[in-house]
Amino acid sequence: ESVYINPAKQMAHSGVYNRNDSEMCHPWSQEVCQVLSSVFKLPGFRHNQLEAINATISGKDVFVLMPTGGGKSLCYQLPALIYGGKTRGTTIVISPLISLMQDQVAHLVAKGIKAGMINSRGDTEERKNMYRLLNSGNLSLLYISPEMLNTSGQLKNSISRLHKNGLLARIVIDEAHCVSSWGHDFRPDYKELGVFRREYPDVPMIALTATANDRVQLDVKHNLGLVDPAFFKQSFNRPNLLYEVKEKGRDILNEIRDLMRIKYPGKSGIIYCHSKMSCEQTAQKLQKFGLRVTHYHAGMTPEERMDVQAKWQEGTLQAICATIAFGMGIDKANVRFVVHYTLPRTLEGYYQETGRAGRDGLYSECILYYAYRDASTMMTMIDRDDTDFQTKEKQRSFLKQVVQYCENKTDCRRLQVLRYFNEAFESEDCHKACDNCRTSNSADYEERDVTDVAKNIICVVRQLQEENVTMLYCIDVFRGAKTNKVQSAGHDSVEGYGAGRGLDRTDIERIFHHLVTEDALKEMSSVNRAGFASSYLKTGGQASAFLSGYKRLSMPFPKKSSRARSTAKAATVSRARASNDTAISSSNVAQRKSTTRATKSAAKT
Ligand code: ADP
Ligand code: MG
Ligand code: ZN
Repeated sequence: ESVYINPAKQMAHSGVYNRNDSEMCHPWSQEVCQVLSSVFKLPGFRHNQLEAINATISGKDVFVLMPTGGGKSLCYQLPALIYGGKTRGTTIVISPLISLMQDQVAHLVAKGIKAGMINSRGDTEERKNMYRLLNSGNLSLLYISPEMLNTSGQLKNSISRLHKNGLLARIVIDEAHCVSSWGHDFRPDYKELGVFRREYPDVPMIALTATANDRVQLDVKHNLGLVDPAFFKQSFNRPNLLYEVKEKGRDILNEIRDLMRIKYPGKSGIIYCHSKMSCEQTAQKLQKFGLRVTHYHAGMTPEERMDVQAKWQEGTLQAICATIAFGMGIDKANVRFVVHYTLPRTLEGYYQETGRAGRDGLYSECILYYAYRDASTMMTMIDRDDTDFQTKEKQRSFLKQVVQYCENKTDCRRLQVLRYFNEAFESEDCHKACDNCRTSNSADYEERDVTDVAKNIICVVRQLQEENVTMLYCIDVFRGAKTNKVQSAGHDSVEGYGAGRGLDRTDIERIFHHLVTEDALKEMSSVNRAGFASSYLKTGGQASAFLSGYKRLSMPFPKKSSRARSTAKAATVSRARASNDTAISSSNVAQRKSTTRATKSAAKT
């Protein structure tokens, strides 16, 4: 397989790429440069663009992995205008979103390029015209949605006629991760795209995506039937993005207000919220500060959404409180901040959403507000969703990765994100541009084996789980709380009661959370008699692996010396409220300000 991987450290956004001579000696090289400057009005190529362009013009299958905003579109839009290569005719582009297509087609038409789209919308007259243009062979680029291909016989006929006449230049699959059920954004219609290779084996294909780990890559290659593709991959690191995870507390709105008003006055940003309601409420609250903010979500009409997007793009609105429906394919260079008001559902999604900041290469901030209770709520929603078991399991495991990311206060954020993409990264290369690198002082931490603690915790949960107990309650029992509830239920006699007495409460919470992400414990939600949803703690699939000692748990902890003072303080605090400990709701506990601690996925098998 001809794999062409560039050094991981090459930066994606360092601007214009210096032309490599060997890439400039093709019969079409002259024409390529000409089109770049006269049609696209660009001064040069970015990293990997010219290589990908040459590979597809020479008739090879191509797989392009480039971060969001890296410039993937040019890799197929420019070749669509080249006559001197091995391909000619119309380029068919499969794209998952109509809004994205509209945006791209409008840009192309504005450049004088013959481009169009056929999708389920649009009136019949328009569509007729588009078919006429397509059948004439004079269209350079045709954007279609995958479901069109699967449902429209007319479209299939037109494409096959083009092919017969030797005018089907290439097939482009944009956002190719949608092909894979292992991607975070699987579209069933994308699965059918393998039909292109079967019916037109001689027509080169290009798959492009910003997010594909090894598994997704394999899936895409296999499902599309790519043959020995030229593979262009570059570092996913975005050096100009500053990553930070903040504890989500009462001050969140004031913090966002200050970010917008003091740190980035007049600069644009996105605030991602978890639900439509949260978008609207957050926007309202920020409006009360006099900030120019509004909401954006899938519940709005296309007109409303276009209007909001336009106002944001021109700067009339400073920020948008949006669901993840916002942003895909949006091309705004000067986004200075991306805030996650609630933790994202997947790390891939997080990477994509934060990737919308700083496309101009200038420093931009990505702030994620984390509260364990939010994760808990999201788990509950996954459980209640009307989806099959496998989908739920997948979503749960994605979310657990996000929780681990948020709770890991030691490893470089970039290192963690890039590890997800199977990319090696040295934290020195972060240059202290993330919260963990900025505050980390590895001398203050030590790795401790807490397998025995974990065993006791699991043991407590195993004995109580039949009685529908919450995590908070299990923590109480583990710490040996002498509350009425514990005593009247006789839980002060279970094995492991009080085993956590000498430990810091925040540490105990961390270990509990960690055991959930390790699937040694799990939270199951249900609606109680009063109609409130609660989540109850149970043992998970890995519980016995820990109990038997087959799996061990080790996590970084602040060193004893640097801890002494805070432990003393914690002891006074916990004594003071020992009597009404159980009255503290789980959200309060999750909100409690914890001192900087570390979590590291370190269960050794
Ligand atoms: P992607 O699809 O990878 O997210 P796009 O193709 O939408 O990214 O491109 C993102 C932005 O980068 C666009 O504004 C585009 O005009 C710009 N761009 C692409 N290639 C170049 C280049 N060679 N030089 C300068 N800007 C470029
Ligand atoms: Mg794109
Ligand atoms: Zn870092």
